[in-house]
Amino acid sequence: MASIMYAAECPQCGRSAFADNYYKIDVTYIHCRRCGYNAVTSRNPEEARRYGHDVHENPGYGVCLSITKEGHLEMTLFNCFPVDVEQCKAEILATDPELKKSFLVTYTEGVFEIILGTPFENFHLPFKEYAEKMYEKHGDIEGFEGLVPIEN
Ligand SMILES: [Zn+2]
Repeated sequence: MASIMYAAECPQCGRSAFADNYYKIDVTYIHCRRCGYNAVTSRNPEEARRYGHDVHENPGYGVCLSITKEGHLEMTLFNCFPVDVEQCKAEILATDPELKKSFLVTYTEGVFEIILGTPFENFHLPFKEYAEKMYEKHGDIEGFEGLVPIEN
């Protein structure tokens, strides 16, 4: 089923989150590569369920993201405070020892802590600034004017 991907303000941290909207049935998957928040929302949860989309919401406690030399992306969104920070660090260092693109960030009570690596260039931008930057760079999404284009 067709969906459209765009940037949306993260309801938890206020930065930019990935939204993937199945517009024909009003189901939106959202995940935040800043704070780790993720959810599946719908104005009609029962219908969403009939199409196999489980409406739910998970709080975020951070993100572990590693990108291998081949460009393969592996991402963990923490839905509770990570107890295995050391293991995450080891995994990142195993795939991207120079920490060129990988990072480990925790998020608790509104505070980000960068444990390892360098987050994306746009990581720190509040949603409004991010949206302005994306419009400037990419313009409107064809056929979906009003939605903010997305990149990391
Ligand atoms: Zn967030």
